[in-house]
Amino acid sequence: MSDWTIKTKKRAKELKEQGFYNNWTKRNFGLITFFIYPDFQIDDEWFKKRLNIYKKNAKILGVKPPKVNFFVYPSIEIGKKIGIIPTICFIKMKEIHGHLNQSPGHELTHILVGKINNSKNLPGNGLWQEGLCTYLNGTKTNQRKHTLSLNFSEVTLATPWKKWRKHMPGNLYPLAGSIIQYLVKRYGWKKMILFLKKLKKAARNQDKISLDIFKKSLEEIQKDWSKWLKKD
Ligand SMILES: [Zn+2]
Repeated sequence: MSDWTIKTKKRAKELKEQGFYNNWTKRNFGLITFFIYPDFQIDDEWFKKRLNIYKKNAKILGVKPPKVNFFVYPSIEIGKKIGIIPTICFIKMKEIHGHLNQSPGHELTHILVGKINNSKNLPGNGLWQEGLCTYLNGTKTNQRKHTLSLNFSEVTLATPWKKWRKHMPGNLYPLAGSIIQYLVKRYGWKKMILFLKKLKKAARNQDKISLDIFKKSLEEIQKDWSKWLKKD
């Protein structure tokens, strides 16, 4: 877990103990219970969109979606003022702190990925989790095109994926999304999910399962992806 994740988790716990969330409006939508910042109005469509993406992604990933508590802040700034950066998901606690303008699916997908493999094997800020959550974020963004538009250096594109197993810098999330996009298009969801299920803590295990499932090493797949990324 990154430093800010630990800090935010601690802060959320403190605030709960102080009763800070007691006057937040509670809206129960079955799988997701939303807690809304006081005196803040949100359209019903906003909630339904999240619920639908959550169900849709659960089907894609082949997992049973657990019940989630979702705290909604009006903006990142308002969260920051009270010591919470509301772009965070606590997988084990099934709790999300999100803000109004965030993509509908990103944080919710973290919860679902937690059902595929535990966060020791599939680290929360790592390439595979962030790639999935970016690819399945419920927006229409084409991650390949988005990645291209960001003009990443050749060095970045050639960085071995293993390096990002535990931590993917935030500015590289679209790149992670494009990796999942490629794998899913080339090999299908079934193999993609099998790969994720078999990942173990040690990075060296990645090569073996990649060969088993995709019949290629990750290094080869990375080269294929890089060509695909730059195609017209
Ligand atoms: Zn994320």
